[in-house]
Amino acid sequence: MKYYSTNKAVPEVSLKDAVIKGLAADRGLFMPEKINKLPQSFFDNIVNMTLQEISFEVAKAFFGEDVEEARLKDIVYDTMNFDIPLVQVTEDIYSLELFHGPTAAFKDVGGRFMARLLGYFISQEKGDKTVNVLVATSGDTGSAVANGFLGVEGIKVFVLYPKGKVSEIQEKQFTTLGRNITAIEVDGTFDDCQKLVKEAFMDEDLNKQMFLTSANSINVARFLPQSFYYFYAYAQFRKMNPDMEPVICVPSGNFGNITAGLFGKFMGLPIKRFIAANNKNDIFYKYIKTGEYSPKPSVQTIANAMDVGDPSNFARIIDIFGNSHDAIAAEIDAVTYDDAQIAATMSEVYKTDKYLLDPHGACGFLALKQLLEKDEKGIFLETAHPAKFKDTVEPIVKEEVKIPESLQGFMKGKKDTVELSGSYADFKELLLKNK
Ligand SMILES: *Cc1c(COP(=O)(O)O)cnc(C)c1O
Repeated sequence: MKYYSTNKAVPEVSLKDAVIKGLAADRGLFMPEKINKLPQSFFDNIVNMTLQEISFEVAKAFFGEDVEEARLKDIVYDTMNFDIPLVQVTEDIYSLELFHGPTAAFKDVGGRFMARLLGYFISQEKGDKTVNVLVATSGDTGSAVANGFLGVEGIKVFVLYPKGKVSEIQEKQFTTLGRNITAIEVDGTFDDCQKLVKEAFMDEDLNKQMFLTSANSINVARFLPQSFYYFYAYAQFRKMNPDMEPVICVPSGNFGNITAGLFGKFMGLPIKRFIAANNKNDIFYKYIKTGEYSPKPSVQTIANAMDVGDPSNFARIIDIFGNSHDAIAAEIDAVTYDDAQIAATMSEVYKTDKYLLDPHGACGFLALKQLLEKDEKGIFLETAHPAKFKDTVEPIVKEEVKIPESLQGFMKGKKDTVELSGSYADFKELLLKNK
């Protein structure tokens, strides 16, 4: 299958090139030329299928033309080797727990898939080419990508993160790994980190000397696999609610996750409608309500993985809906919550429903609670384990939060980072020194 750029100023490329390049040369985001519908027989049988079986069918629709079936099956089964259960929280609201993977957040799915697919493409190359993966993170991306790529032959990973703006437990997951992973602590915000990465890709001189690629959610190998678990969520939901279409609410930052859900719907998945939950970084909310898209610097909140002032996947949403605000607003509703509302939700749901939310999932829960109509039921994506935000969660629920075993291992490691000013010249020098 061919992939085109959302800016449409460069020719289409192969899957391999889209994955290796990350971002198109015209700064657009790659999009598959078509979204294949899945057959009715698949949906008829979906409640009887495992997460891995469902994921493989969805993966074939995207990648089947470009990756041999047996290899694709290995990549999918290896990526999706942990459960993603749908848990009932109230009468009408379900939580899709995306935190049972190695770094306890949904980004494990995309991070693990991309590492395996990129490893597959690089292994086909002759010679000893090193691919340098640059990734900007506001917390969870860095850990999922770094752990996904740890030890993968022929790949070096540089993780840029805003100094002092991620929790200790998040930081430990990508600053303690060593080997082919370098953690860079940037004096600035997440948007500054993202800007440095984008600038590196545009720097012709640097690109002549080093082979660079991105592992942010702009990479098709990270964002498309996220559609797998929407199908699995639906399969579990239908077992409990035959003949119903769920409303799905996605706590959103860069909008990769919700875009993958939209792709699922285009493939035929019966989802009634979507809700995008914003924290105080309400750029998308304002767009839905006014039709105007005005990016602005991000502000810090307790749901920090959603602190994004200019969501990169917005370009994809615009593209799939042909730039029609009406079409977008008909499919996706939006909400915005401040820290006090997020905290109150966590506290209340813990007390009344005995369910421990993380700050991101709390935005999703509250949106469903407020916007579900009488005859509707909804699923929110619980995007990370609450223990990843222990320092925030504990004072709110007034109880100790147990760290899952998978995360405990990281806490014992020693932090090792390189410090960086926000200046691009310094970043370039650092990359060239480490190539
Ligand atoms: C990354 C992340 C989000 C936002 O996801 P996007 O795909 O960037 O919209 C939400 N919650 C958590 C916990 C995350 O790590």
